Amino acid sequence: MLECKVHGAMDLRVVDAPVPQAVEGEVLVRLGAAGICGSDMHYYLHGRVGSFVIREPLTPGHEASGVVAAVGPGVSRVRPGDRVAINPSRPCRRCAACREGRENLCRDMRFLGSASVFPHMQGMFREYFTAPEAQCVVVADETIGLDEIAMAEPLSVALHSATRAGPLLGRAVLVTGSGTIGCMQVIACRMAGAARIVVTDVVDRPLSVARRVGADETIRIDRLPEGAPLSPTTGEFDVAFEVSGSPQALVTCLQSVRRGGIVVQVGTLPAEGVQLPANQIMAREIDLRGSFRFGNVFELAVGAIADRRVDVRPLISGAWPLQQAARAIETARDKTRSMKVQLVVD
Ligand SMILES: [Zn+2]
Ligand SMILES: [Zn+2]
Repeated sequence: MLECKVHGAMDLRVVDAPVPQAVEGEVLVRLGAAGICGSDMHYYLHGRVGSFVIREPLTPGHEASGVVAAVGPGVSRVRPGDRVAINPSRPCRRCAACREGRENLCRDMRFLGSASVFPHMQGMFREYFTAPEAQCVVVADETIGLDEIAMAEPLSVALHSATRAGPLLGRAVLVTGSGTIGCMQVIACRMAGAARIVVTDVVDRPLSVARRVGADETIRIDRLPEGAPLSPTTGEFDVAFEVSGSPQALVTCLQSVRRGGIVVQVGTLPAEGVQLPANQIMAREIDLRGSFRFGNVFELAVGAIADRRVDVRPLISGAWPLQQAARAIETARDKTRSMKVQLVVD
């Protein structure tokens, strides 16, 4: 079978490897679709994501669907032929964070396709992989594509940050950044009952997708005068989600929420830190909250996609064969052309 391995910056190899065996409690999955995420791009381009550095060849990929090829002993719920979404999170379920219900903050998290631990957790950019049965969520409806099912992971990220914001029913929401996660944030806020959603970006194409999935208004923030506040045109927001990872966008969020408003940081900001009008947090009693990966919302995300309560199809912009993973990643980087690019096997 084919397997994608990143050995270091700009060194990605698609190699032949033996098909793994499903052991006790495990499921063998044949890849359906695997989305290319920002972190996968960083592993390929820089050999690292923030402080997670590649120390042995790493198979990236944590946003995948597939078809069950075989099951190991002790597997009872999942059967061969089932179409599944794979939850890439494996928290320890014993530490204080896990016991508090905040599994995404687990100190001993095993997250697929990540160099956060050593040996690395190998991901799903490969033809076959094994996963514990508990991490496989079955989608029975044959009309839902494997490409859609693979979007459950990025939807989970947005559902988690919506949860971090608290009740959104009737709220006015700002989302800065309209890539896959920004558009998922629009979808998640709609699910949660937001009354008005405004999205900003510096590129037209993703903003048009944001409108298709439910944004009321989109703004090219780069076309406003430098540092100009949004509020004269949009009014103030109850909640802002900073999804782009841009320091300037975080400033916009802090300036655009009402007194007592909430800002949720979802995007990855520069590692060296950022300059902020931090007194706004004090003087206007703004709640600045972080949101990291996702907690217990993966099945909710799969369910919403599986019965099309949400339609993630406008976010999917192409499928590439696994053999061309490097070219697919290059394509995924170009925000003027691509949203979610996925890898598939023939
Ligand atoms: Zn991702
Ligand atoms: Zn834990």
